[in-house]
Amino acid sequence: MNSADPQAPGGPGRAWRHMFLALTALLALPGFLPEAEATEPHRPRREEMVTTQLIARGISHEPTLEAFRRVPRHYFVRQEHLQRAYDDRPLPIGHGQTISQPYIVALMTELIEPRRGHRILEIGTGSGYQAAILAEITDQVYTIEIVEALAEWGQSNLRKAGYHRVQAASGDGYYGWEEKAPFDAIVVTAAAASIPPPLLAQLAPGGRMIIPVGSPFRTQVLTLVHRRDDTFQTEQILPVRFVPFVRPE
Ligand code: SAH
Repeated sequence: MNSADPQAPGGPGRAWRHMFLALTALLALPGFLPEAEATEPHRPRREEMVTTQLIARGISHEPTLEAFRRVPRHYFVRQEHLQRAYDDRPLPIGHGQTISQPYIVALMTELIEPRRGHRILEIGTGSGYQAAILAEITDQVYTIEIVEALAEWGQSNLRKAGYHRVQAASGDGYYGWEEKAPFDAIVVTAAAASIPPPLLAQLAPGGRMIIPVGSPFRTQVLTLVHRRDDTFQTEQILPVRFVPFVRPE
């Protein structure tokens, strides 16, 4: 190797490489890159979460797994739980509510079989994490939250993490989002005693809804509803524990 070789140690190639590295370091400073990309230290934890919590338990829908690899879950937890963001558990998000365990979010996502181009409604924005997962798969995500303070926090989390296309509203999700219906899928993230009829009506033929059904202080059953024209097939998936679906006084 002679010194005119651009790849030779000490040759011009090295200087360019240094310049490139310096430039990359500069770009990584806060303000130059979207925050989500500047916080790369979390990527290995996300990979590990996908492998040990999702794939190991049978989640296999590739768009769902890919969404979990990409969404920075640490943007959707309270500051004091930052170190636990990727743990195998739900976490409190204030107002008596929780961000669900990653596996449950993944299972609910996989079961509705989301695809690009789908129009999806979520009831219970909470932290915004489930909405962000859906937004990795399709551009048309709508989400409703009844606790105003959470609606604001969830929307700000979504914005900071770069999910600008999610349309969020504050209000009672019992009535769905009539003007945007029909939906290819509906995800309800709070447990209802029975399935709200307006949500069934807003499900498109062929559409799927996932909803925990049962009373607040007993075991609830994660239930999958599949609409075929005007008939609804339901399938009980597994016992779960969700916060209650509340109604205004
Ligand atoms: N999907 C959320 C989970 C939040 S827990 C996440 O990824 O973090 C469920 C949420 O449902 C709570 O924030 C609760 O306030 C909300 N909720 C309960 N009843 C509701 C209703 N009738 N309409 C809209 N949201 C409701």
